[in-house]
Amino acid sequence: MKSNDLEGLFMARKRNKELMKFAEEIGGEEAIEVIKALEKKGEATDEELAEVTGIRVNTVRKILYSLYDNQLAEFRRTRDKDTGWYYYYWRLETKRLPEIIKAKKMQELKKLKEVLDEETREIYYHCGTPGHPRLTFDEAMEYEFRCPLCGEMLMQYDNTEIVKELQERIKKLEKELGLKA
Ligand SMILES: [Zn+2]
Repeated sequence: MKSNDLEGLFMARKRNKELMKFAEEIGGEEAIEVIKALEKKGEATDEELAEVTGIRVNTVRKILYSLYDNQLAEFRRTRDKDTGWYYYYWRLETKRLPEIIKAKKMQELKKLKEVLDEETREIYYHCGTPGHPRLTFDEAMEYEFRCPLCGEMLMQYDNTEIVKELQERIKKLEKELGLKA
């Protein structure tokens, strides 16, 4: 095997992993099944995919349109001369996958940074009971430092762990995106 082949194999596996992760986000296990079936067949109609996977055709169609919306699938339409019905032949289109994944990660990074910013800017208050709301200083003032749910005294909430986790996730994403070494 030439090194080029190995490289190609590695890229294909990486691409596949990312595609499956994306599939799971848009339609869970069923989307993964549909994509696997489509990849195997190369080109298929929604009915064929439903038959192969055992997933209802409406669900298959929904998954295909989600893929299409994300520019990860394409179709060609043919018309049956006798019945006049249209048939849609679907296939995967993964050229834009790296770009799509990158955009999603950038979006996530932006959101995480906003949350981190808020977590480091605010001082939070909490009554100590899990599930009860965490209030900002202004909110706590409004409630006279009493929990709006149980009426217990609010104490300053230590968010060190949350901040640490956010920082770690940001660092990991930045590394994945090649923004920081
Ligand atoms: Zn409470």
